[in-house]
Order: sequence, then C-alpha cells, then structure tokens
Amino acid sequence: MNVHDTEKMLGVLLQNGYRQTDNAHAADLIILNTCSVRQKAEQKFYSELGRLKSYKKRKSDLMIGVAGCIAQQEGDNLFRRAPHVDFIFGPQNIHALHDIKNKKRPYSALEENQSIALHDLPAERSDEIRAWISIMYGCNNFCSYCVVPFTRGRERSRPSENIYREISMLAERGCKEVTLLGQNVNSYITDVDFPGLLKKLNKIEGIMRIRFVTSHPKDLSKQLAQAIADLSKVCEHIHLPMQSASDVILRRMNRRYTFEDYMRKIDSLKSEIPEISITSDIIAGFPGESDHDHAQTIKALREICFDGIFAFAFSSRPRTRAATYEDQIPDDIKLQRLNEILEVQDEITLRKNRDLIGTVQEILIEGTSESDKQKITGKTRANKIVTMGNISIPKGSLVKAEIVKARKHSLEGIPIR
Ligand code: SAM
Ligand code: SF4
Repeated sequence: MNVHDTEKMLGVLLQNGYRQTDNAHAADLIILNTCSVRQKAEQKFYSELGRLKSYKKRKSDLMIGVAGCIAQQEGDNLFRRAPHVDFIFGPQNIHALHDIKNKKRPYSALEENQSIALHDLPAERSDEIRAWISIMYGCNNFCSYCVVPFTRGRERSRPSENIYREISMLAERGCKEVTLLGQNVNSYITDVDFPGLLKKLNKIEGIMRIRFVTSHPKDLSKQLAQAIADLSKVCEHIHLPMQSASDVILRRMNRRYTFEDYMRKIDSLKSEIPEISITSDIIAGFPGESDHDHAQTIKALREICFDGIFAFAFSSRPRTRAATYEDQIPDDIKLQRLNEILEVQDEITLRKNRDLIGTVQEILIEGTSESDKQKITGKTRANKIVTMGNISIPKGSLVKAEIVKARKHSLEGIPIR
C-alpha cells in the first residue's frame, strides 16, 4: 500500500514539473514515506531523517517532506523534533503535493480537505505489466494492536465503475495483472460487494490475472470462495492473517473470530478450491500470551500448512489498546517464539514447494531475475516465484513450465513449448 502511495506522490510531482532522480544529493525535494505499523519501521525512519540533516546543510534550498503514517501520528511534533523537515502530510492528503513549492514552511497538510479522492490523483507506476489498485481506504476493525485505523482513518470503498475504468485503461496500455488493495477487501461495499466487484473486473479484456490483499477472516464469505473458484482470472491465492491460534489471545486482539471459525473458513476454501495457496500473518508474543497459547499457534501452523507466512514480534504502538495491557512479554521471549514460528514454517514452506516438483505451472513472466541476470523470473497463479535459465521470453507473456527444483523462497522451471 505504501509503495502504491509513493507511485501517487510521484504522479503528482511529475505533473508539477519535477523529475525523479536516484541521486539524493542532487535532489531539490526529498520525501520519506513512512510506516508506523511496527516500531522497527519507525526507528529506521528516524535514523534516515537524521542523515538528511547534513544534506540540508550542504544545500539550504533542499525541501524535505515526511509522508505516511508517522506524519499522521506525530503531526507538528515532527517539526519540533526535526526542524529540518519542511512539510508533512498523511496518507489521506497526498493531493497537498500539488503546489508544494509555494507553501509557507513549515507546512502541515494534515488538516487539509481529505475528501479529495486519492484515486483521482495520477500514479507514476513502476511496472507496466503489473499494477496495484486501491479499492478501499482505511479500516474500521480496531484490532487492539494496530495503528492503521488511527493513521488511515475509517473505511471508504471506491466506486466500482471508477475501479473498472482505471483497470480498463491500464489493460489498454499492456497491463496483465492487477492486485486490488485494501486493509480488509472483504468488507468492500458500493453498488456491489467484493465478490460482485471481482465478477465485474473479471470481464476486462487484456487483464490475465486478478489478485487481492488483505482478507479479514471474519468477513470471508462463501461467495468469495465461490468467486475464486469460478472466475478464470482471479488467482487461487488468499492472504488470510490468522495472527494467533489461541482464542484467549484472539479475543484480546479484538479479531472477532475463534480459531474454530478460522479453521472452518480454511476447510471451506480448501474444499471449494483444492489448488488454493493460503498465506498468513502471525504475531509472536502478544501481551499475556502464555507458553500454552504459543504452543497452540505452533500446532496450528503444522495442521494448516500455510504456503508462507509473515511473522512479527508484537510491537507496542501509540494509541492502541494493546499498548496499555500490563502483561507485556519480555523481548527475549518474543524473539524466541518468533524464531520458533519461522523455523517451523520454513520447513513447511520448503516441503510444500518440493511437492510442486514435476508439476506444470502457468507463469506470468516479470522480466530478468534481480539475483541472476542470466535468468528470467515470473510467478505462478499461487504467487510463487519461478526462475528459468538462459531463455528469452518477453515480459508479460504467460508460459507453461515444468517445475524442476524447489527452494524455500522460489522454484526453478523449464518452459514447455
Ligand atoms: N489489514 C490487514 C489484516 O487485518 O490482516 C493487515 C494490515 S497490518 C498493517 C499487517 C500485519 O502487520 C498484520 O496482519 C499484523 O500481523 C502485523 N501487525 C500489525 N500491527 C502490529 C503490531 N503492533 N505488532 C506486530 N505486528 C503487527
Ligand atoms: Fe489493522 Fe486489524 Fe484493520 Fe488489519 S483489520 S488494518 S490488523 S485494525
């Protein structure tokens, strides 16, 4: 989501006469787009911001801006803490970048009109064959650990016609794959619900694949499973964050499902779409998490066998309810539990990838591999990375390939003529 917000910032700046540069020393304007979901991201931002101070000393007319959730969270405090910051704006007022040159500094756009639709801003997209599309903004769920509802505001769904038009235009320019973005795409609602939106978008000519993130388990409906099963362009992959398998912890997280509810949804997805790939998010060491709660999560990982997970040590965030819980877990135990979760999952991911050896997969070619320029890379419908050696197949092609090797984070394939 942040990467896409950055594409929007670039779009607005280019429209206002700026050009992008890779050389920070040559820049007249530097914006740090920030994330505050975990403290680590915040620390990284502050050390980067500290470094920019010397840039400003060397070039006094350099403008430095802070965007994103830290700007939203900290507001004017940022100017006090870092006087070299010229302007700040949050995820809901990117339009404030129009005319930024002429604003009196320090300038805070946080109070600016937020009704200007983000989707009406131009986006400078970094990839011509794959695109992120925001379909909704904000979140109403208030999971007790999460800052997002405070920084990105309440849930707003974007008109379906507007999404349809944007994707049709991208398709005309050669885009093959779209990923629909929202904090909780299942609660998308306008003239259609989320499965209805998928049905509408599935008709767009030229688009070959439709993906979406993230789905909240409490709102995952039978109709969505049916849509994934029935609609040819909707990929057989779902990211469904479980967070924990302990009901005590899930209640304290305010996730509004039990582990049994979660398992029921997983079972129904697997029976509706046997080839589905399921990935998840897990938080280790949530306040009050006992050894038993943690053991339940480990057991669930072995039982469900996710295709992959993102796991995080619990991070206490300002304004959230979980930050006020008294039974915080010491850092060393959080880390120990996180490592155990990652170790168990690594083994499962590798095993699941090895199961694909000998199968034939459809791959959308994304271009030359970053790690080996002799190879090309792409993804399966299940979102697994596949590299193929010594061949040239144009970016954006769909090819069939036999999987011949499996690693933890990628597969190796041979194209089938
Ligand atoms: N909206 C999505 C959902 O509900 O699953 C995810 C959004 S959140 C930005 C991405 C992931 O970050 C969450 O699923 C959670 O696992 C993790 N996360 C959020 N807040 C966290 C915190 N305070 N500490 C550790 N992990 C956190
Ligand atoms: Fe955060 Fe929960 Fe909303 Fe996801 S659903 S963004 S974890 S509050």
